Amino acid sequence: MIQLIRGFKDILPGEVELWQAVEKIARELLEDFGFREIRIPIMERTELFARSIGEDTDIVEKEMYTFPDRKGDLITLRPEATASIVRSYIQHRLYATDPVQKFYTIGPMFRRERPQKGRYRQFYQINAEIFGVPSGLADVQLIFLLVTLFSRLQVPDVKAHINSLGCPKCRPKFKVALSEFLTSVSDKLCADCIRRKDRNPLRVLDCKVPACREAMAEAPSILDYLCSECDADFAEVKSMLKNLGVPFIVDKNLVRGLDYYARTTFEIQTESLGAQNAVAGGGRYDGLVGELGGPDIPATGFAIGFDRLTELTGLSADQFYRRPDIFVAALGDRSRLLAFEWLCLFGGEGIRAEMDFDGKSLKSQMKRADRLEAGHVLIVGDDEIKKGEAILRNMETKNQESVSLDNLVQNIKNKIKE
Ligand code: AMP
Repeated sequence: MIQLIRGFKDILPGEVELWQAVEKIARELLEDFGFREIRIPIMERTELFARSIGEDTDIVEKEMYTFPDRKGDLITLRPEATASIVRSYIQHRLYATDPVQKFYTIGPMFRRERPQKGRYRQFYQINAEIFGVPSGLADVQLIFLLVTLFSRLQVPDVKAHINSLGCPKCRPKFKVALSEFLTSVSDKLCADCIRRKDRNPLRVLDCKVPACREAMAEAPSILDYLCSECDADFAEVKSMLKNLGVPFIVDKNLVRGLDYYARTTFEIQTESLGAQNAVAGGGRYDGLVGELGGPDIPATGFAIGFDRLTELTGLSADQFYRRPDIFVAALGDRSRLLAFEWLCLFGGEGIRAEMDFDGKSLKSQMKRADRLEAGHVLIVGDDEIKKGEAILRNMETKNQESVSLDNLVQNIKNKIKE
């Protein structure tokens, strides 16, 4: 038997109801906050990700699904959405009438990571991006939106971790101090960090290896190097989060390794996830639109791990399973054909109906109606047809009543939608 690919998964009925509900709640909230949906392709030219995510990141170095198409062009299954949204914003000149644009997108991402609990090779994200707003207030809006969403989804123990990465004016001085520090602790760092130390020292700060974490506890803090503008911006972000009642922790080691990232960076963490404790991450990437060939427009955004969200929410799929409104139990061939006609008409009227197609006994049909948790059963046999009526049983109250076959679909609709 052919099995699915390692790290990939099916989302089956029974769990998909939860995915749909989470998506619906997220969409509604994003749209209430003024975000509009943008749908971007699943594949892009490899170059787009190499340039925007960065050549020496884990994603680009070893996790992308990249292959030549039949003409030899290198294409990649998207490992994240921001790069494509930025490409689209530039390509369609979406900034032309108004540079301020807010987009969201929901869909699958692909990274060839080592599969483990909470890590998949095809996983899903909800992304939101705000273009054209230089103020840290846009970052606050994103963090507030995330915390609101997690509260609606009953995710427990949610905390925002925030940091500022400064700007191209103040960060170089910090990098020098950090490099000096890294040299002094290099005997304690993992092999990856030794390599990162020279190529991209900021990335050593968020290495997850315990020994590196320990060594980095004493690392200099970027917050001590911020220029006055970045300092004021971060102070405003913190004070506004406080005003809005958003719980947050300043984490000086929360960083992103690329030069186009600036100022606020954040993660939403929850105690209940263990090692994979970030449900969402994001931050300001003021230099990326320019870097990819567009005008100099600032931007900020986030990505939520959809898979993790469905594991953390206090909601359950069962709450959203749509039970049949009615099960039509027919006895005899004539009744069964009539029942089938009604079944089709019910569906067209927004009534979820089921029936048995094989002429089973009434007892076994009632059993199936029970198993499907149908709200009502409509019983019809040759005797009922002669009398021009059928029996409607309410499965919850067990009440039974006769309903006329004239205008039956409308009659039933009125009764069960009461
Ligand atoms: P990133 O794009 O790496 O900043 O990730 C944003 C969010 O996506 C993370 O906080 C995770 O919740 C989720 N995520 C990233 N990689 C995976 C993966 N391989 N499997 C499941 N979720 C993931």
